[in-house]
Amino acid sequence: MTTTEALLTALATIAVGGSGLTALLNYFAGGRKVRRETENQLWERLVTERTRAENERDQAEADRDDERAYTRVLERASRCAASTSPTARSGREPLEVDPMATGFYLLDHPNRVQQYGKVRRGGNKPTGTIIIHTAENVADQIGADLGAESVARYCTTRGDYGAYHRLVDADSIIKMAPLGYETWHCTKTNPWSVGISMAVEAGDWTKYPADYVTKVLRNAARAAADAVRDFKTEFGIDVPIAHISGDAARAKKPGFTGHGETDPGRRTDPGANFPWTRFLAMVREELDPTPPKKEDGFMSDLTDKEQHELLDKVRDLHDQFHGLQVEMPWTDKKTGKAAKYTFRSALKWAVAQLPKIAQKLGV
Ligand SMILES: [Zn+2]
Repeated sequence: MTTTEALLTALATIAVGGSGLTALLNYFAGGRKVRRETENQLWERLVTERTRAENERDQAEADRDDERAYTRVLERASRCAASTSPTARSGREPLEVDPMATGFYLLDHPNRVQQYGKVRRGGNKPTGTIIIHTAENVADQIGADLGAESVARYCTTRGDYGAYHRLVDADSIIKMAPLGYETWHCTKTNPWSVGISMAVEAGDWTKYPADYVTKVLRNAARAAADAVRDFKTEFGIDVPIAHISGDAARAKKPGFTGHGETDPGRRTDPGANFPWTRFLAMVREELDPTPPKKEDGFMSDLTDKEQHELLDKVRDLHDQFHGLQVEMPWTDKKTGKAAKYTFRSALKWAVAQLPKIAQKLGV
């Protein structure tokens, strides 16, 4: 057997499997034509086999890659969750989003004591009275602000009554219950009011860093503005963006007041230093954001006529510079005089030299 024959025998054994013997017999018994055909067939099968093996290997490699990537994503997700979500950190909440979730925290989590009433007591409907609270937790100012998340969890695990409709901190707004539901946030006005709480302490407004206060106020204003919009669309109520008295709130008037004002004997939140004027200005801003001012002198600010005039000026400048001759800092070898370039070539030359100059200067 020649080397080719030996090779083909080996290939035939591998590639044709069960019918290998017949193929081999044909190969050696047949003439040149049969041999050629058999060789071609074997070659084709070999190529097919090898391609299939390569594909399988690639696929297996890709699967392993996918698996590694998936594992990495899971690891990252659990690390991330452990560092940002108090619920995930406790290990009691699944990471997956429940497809049946309502988006309202109190409804989506088991309550140790039911913290909401689907129907407001005494046949009451919401009247647009909004009570502002502070949750009196220690403000979380390190890394992600978990204040609102912690208070939300506390509301579902506490053994007594106490919850809000909206809960905010420096970086989150948690919808606790629909505005139509009653929550237990203000004993004097619960049946008709809505409670928005900030996860900070009433006595500490002047102690927090200014930008932290701004962020908390901003989220409270967003939650308030959303509530004002919903009052209009869901209940047809116009809520004035105004600070009303505790008496007015107790009389079911729409507007904003502090928990302390409705219940002066027992409560003081959101605190004597709560910046009411600033907060209400932010609520107005959220409801009617002024469009950003256009930059002065920008082309789109110009009329068509002005744009054409500007383009003509640019063309003029171009023509003037185009004809300009620039003396270069060396002598023309032919004339022995200072070399002269057109403005355009001088500029081109200078730009081309920049990298060399930069290299020389080490910049
Ligand atoms: Zn309160």
